[in-house]
Amino acid sequence: MASATRVVVAGGGVLGTMHAVMARRRGFEVVQLEREAEARGASVRNFGLVWVSGRKAGAELSLALRARELWAELGARVPGLGFRAAGSLTLAGQDAELALLKEAAALPDADRREFELLDPADVRAVNPALRGEFAGGLLCRADAIVEPRQVLPALRSYLAASGEGQGGYQWLPGREVTEIVPNAVRDHTGAWHHCDLVVLCPGAAHTGVAGRYLARGALAPVRRVRLQMMQTAPLAERITTALADGDSLRYYPSYDLPGRAQLPPQAAAAERARAQLLLVQRAGGELTIGDTHEYAEPFGFDLDEEAYDHLRARAETLLGAPIPRVRRRWAGVYSEVTPEVAGHALYHRSEVEPGVVLVTGPGGRGMTCSPAIAEETFG
Ligand SMILES: Cc1cc2nc3c(=O)[nH]c(=O)nc-3n(C[C@H](O)[C@H](O)[C@H](O)COP(=O)(O)OP(=O)(O)OC[C@H]3O[C@@H](n4cnc5c(N)ncnc54)[C@H](O)[C@@H]3O)c2cc1C
Repeated sequence: MASATRVVVAGGGVLGTMHAVMARRRGFEVVQLEREAEARGASVRNFGLVWVSGRKAGAELSLALRARELWAELGARVPGLGFRAAGSLTLAGQDAELALLKEAAALPDADRREFELLDPADVRAVNPALRGEFAGGLLCRADAIVEPRQVLPALRSYLAASGEGQGGYQWLPGREVTEIVPNAVRDHTGAWHHCDLVVLCPGAAHTGVAGRYLARGALAPVRRVRLQMMQTAPLAERITTALADGDSLRYYPSYDLPGRAQLPPQAAAAERARAQLLLVQRAGGELTIGDTHEYAEPFGFDLDEEAYDHLRARAETLLGAPIPRVRRRWAGVYSEVTPEVAGHALYHRSEVEPGVVLVTGPGGRGMTCSPAIAEETFG
């Protein structure tokens, strides 16, 4: 890879774009192809959470912390990313959740996550918009926020500006890579793009050009997960941190501690939709609220209103006030490593042909970890 000078990146999501950034840092020329006119996959549908708090101790936490450093550094260079070191509050609704938060706050790596357990009054001091009901909260100062609808164009403008006059970076939207041969790819228009290295970042497109490397039936290294999201009209008051509710303790591996077994059952609507409340206020004041998890394909093509009712009620319980009118709803699909197949892998990377690297499957940690994953690809 050290001798590669021209890299073709297939995929305009955050993984492809971070690979373009890291390739340019090594002085490589980059051509990035995206099959759509603009990327419209998981990378623009997410919360923009750079989420350290929930990561599993060990390799996953280290990857997320390295990524957090890289996001902060990129955020300083590229204001359009909307990077904010806002931190997060995970709020306990009752005693068993609070006991689990206490356990997490006492973990040996709690200082790396910048955890601090707060009582309700201290929660309100950090985040005065929280006037609702909760038993306490876990502040994670390491968590951060970016603006998912701005990140990709902002990074491309940065790449274009920093490669100016050198022909260092070329963005080719509306080009689907359909064929790969040694040292070249062909897009659907028939045009060839010659290079020393191909990086395929197709996201959840598990068929298409990457399909033959991923299709292994029950042994497929990656699977897909569908999530539901919504966004409100702007709220005038600032919500100073990202928010998570007690249901998130059931999903994130950092809370896989003895106290998890003591948690009461989830509300029926939350259990059905595998929901947890995550809430992020956008730079413009809107509230991005989610999420749900659907693992079995074929996925529904429509949106389940009961899950939204549950998430809205949860948000209003914590805020102690009605949320503004919902203006947008959408679903998103991400690719994640199949737990039973991947073992401890945090994402999928394989050299599928000489000089062709396939990177996908970071799951719900993909926005967070993308800069560190791209850094690892180039060694
Ligand atoms: C609703 C939702 C919320 C999430 N929230 C968070 C969060 O807050 N924090 C976090 O860390 N992670 C989050 N994630 C996960 C994260 O968004 C994903 O892991 C990450 O965006 C994956 O990036 P990607 O570039 O691999 O995929 P994508 O964003 O799907 O990009 C892949 C791109 O490749 C293009 N493509 C595919 N095939 C070809 C081809 N042959 N030729 C050219 N182009 C091609 C596609 O059109 C697409 O634009 C969330 C995901 C979802 C769905």
